[in-house]
Amino acid sequence: MDLGITGRTAAVAAASAGLGLASARALVEAGVTVAICGRDEDRITAAARLLGERAIALVCDVDTQSGGRVFVEQAIDRLGHVDILVTNGGGPPAGTFASTPSVEYAKALEKNLLSVVGMCGAALPGMQERGWGRVIAITSSAVRQPIPNLILSNTARAGITGFLKTVAREVAHRGVTVNTVQPGIHATDRILQLYGANADPSTLGIPTGTLGDPADFGHVVAFLCGEQAKFVTGANLQVDGGAYAGLI
Ligand code: NAD
Repeated sequence: MDLGITGRTAAVAAASAGLGLASARALVEAGVTVAICGRDEDRITAAARLLGERAIALVCDVDTQSGGRVFVEQAIDRLGHVDILVTNGGGPPAGTFASTPSVEYAKALEKNLLSVVGMCGAALPGMQERGWGRVIAITSSAVRQPIPNLILSNTARAGITGFLKTVAREVAHRGVTVNTVQPGIHATDRILQLYGANADPSTLGIPTGTLGDPADFGHVVAFLCGEQAKFVTGANLQVDGGAYAGLI
């Protein structure tokens, strides 16, 4: 399927591995030139090399609001402008209400909420001026159904979902769509860290009986960036093998 975005430009955050890299790869396959970032120069350069000529590596840390803004500013500097923004970053530490010190909440909000605000602040004005843009935020199925041992993630990602829903309605008339994609359990480094190398889909409650394939996830992100998805905005799409059991 031709997504109609050949020649567009994208900034994809935290893309040296996992869901960010898979999203960047799907966009490159759709004809988009991407700027990707990671904190480690060797890893992000290797990732860009894997993606080929239409990928630029930037060394940026998107753990803070200013870090998020700087990443997008550098991407604009290198690409001329950014049509597509995929926000992403590392997840906060695991923990329950009982085990999580209160000082950790501000850090989690900076990492998984304010960093996205920073990226949007740098990307959205140009998208609105040009009358075309796509923002896709990689969040978590925890927004829909909080995960007991991830109280920091549950808290910060619910907040950023409220921010993005508000922005989506504000910028829709300028040709800019804003959506979130909520991963369930995918076979990435992050999941191996959380669940161990033998993560078993059946005990994790995934009806498909499989972990998610990051490559498939990347294609869902790319579809939402496509021309045909121009009427989809303010949506929060779970990609979780049916794990979420609710109706809406
Ligand atoms: P991952 O750990 O496999 O990959 C994350 C990538 O981002 C790594 O390359 C890492 O080096 C980079 N990164 C981390 N912090 C960064 C920073 N501050 N600045 C720049 N780069 C940074 O993670 P993943 O599984 O791809 O998950 C991506 C996001 O989606 C995370 O926030 C995670 O919590 C969330 N998520 C993932 C899943 C899943 O199943 N994989 C499920 C729910 C939510």
